[in-house]
Amino acid sequence: MSEDNCIFCKIIRGEIPARTVFEDEDFKVIMDASPATKGHVLILPKRHYDDLFALPEDVAAKALPLAARLAARLKEKLGCQGINIVQNNGEAAGQTVRHLHIHVIPRYEDGRKADVTWSHSTFDEAELDRILDTIRQNG
Ligand code: 5GP
Ligand code: ZN
Repeated sequence: MSEDNCIFCKIIRGEIPARTVFEDEDFKVIMDASPATKGHVLILPKRHYDDLFALPEDVAAKALPLAARLAARLKEKLGCQGINIVQNNGEAAGQTVRHLHIHVIPRYEDGRKADVTWSHSTFDEAELDRILDTIRQNG
């Protein structure tokens, strides 16, 4: 998706309205239009990057501290008991908007279900070792 017709770029340019929670020179934080829970917000880098593979390290380095500050604020102001940080890359991972974004999702011990978990798979020991050989990095 190009920046011209990217929905989050349009929000950042002010062409589409959004409820803005926070803004600085690098990021805009908005309320999700279809929230999983009360207070679900999205961290958007102001520049367009499709996904994590395109994200420069200097921008990435600022994103987690911002997520942590937002999480603390949501916890203080909304009284949630937990927070999920979720970041989807690619259709296979459930990314629907191809402008990198980080979900900050408050969680409440109120018995209401929110689908931000996954079911577990089983691999035998030999396969786990093969996977480890493939992905292990030194340094
Ligand atoms: P993804 O599935 O790509 O990780 O998440 C996209 C998120 O963007 C969804 O949670 C969806 O509700 C949210 N979203 C999509 N379009 C808009 C919009 O126009 N405004 C806002 N505020 N959120 C949007
Ligand atoms: Zn964009």
